[in-house]
Amino acid sequence: MTNDSLSYVDLDMQCPLCRKGKLSMLYKLTTIPYFGGILTMSIKCSFCGLKISDIMAISDRGELPEKSEIKTFKSKMGDLIVLSAGAKVEIPELDIELYISGETGGEITTVEGILSETLEYAKILAKDPSIENPKKLQRVLKLLRREIEAPSGLLTIVIIDENRRSAIIPHETWVKRAELAREEMLELEEKEIISLGKEALKKKIKV
Ligand SMILES: [Zn+2]
Repeated sequence: MTNDSLSYVDLDMQCPLCRKGKLSMLYKLTTIPYFGGILTMSIKCSFCGLKISDIMAISDRGELPEKSEIKTFKSKMGDLIVLSAGAKVEIPELDIELYISGETGGEITTVEGILSETLEYAKILAKDPSIENPKKLQRVLKLLRREIEAPSGLLTIVIIDENRRSAIIPHETWVKRAELAREEMLELEEKEIISLGKEALKKKIKV
């Protein structure tokens, strides 16, 4: 299989929803030297409307941790965060929890991206006149704005993923991708790709 280009694989199983169609998967594997890779996938049924998307981090050094965290220092703002479906993001200092739903699939963002998304979310909440604790929300807005403008390591971003498919990848590691990709390709057998597809399926549907 080739890296960083779109490939197709037949999952060789019946659709668990309609029990008529067959499932196939389009996927892309991006190799990241000294880490492993990121698998982006989309599963479809040939008969009904079933469509499942997900993103999975795959470490080449064994299992990823269930919980990882990073402080919001300036040097960490560009670190990549891979959030697989079912993962949870916490910012304990702000008492905030965000869930990555299975509907939209996973997402790839950065530390700064998480702070900005959280700020957008908090702004929407702030518009609600019936909000329970407006003072607390104002504090959250203030801290988020300050930390985006001048990151000081004040906040912690905690990623929890019991499926161990989410990861924080340092920016330096990520940028080495282009120069070293030729030498260090993450190789996955087709059967491994198929089993990862079935894993994504299980997160959303009881097969
Ligand atoms: Zn179907």
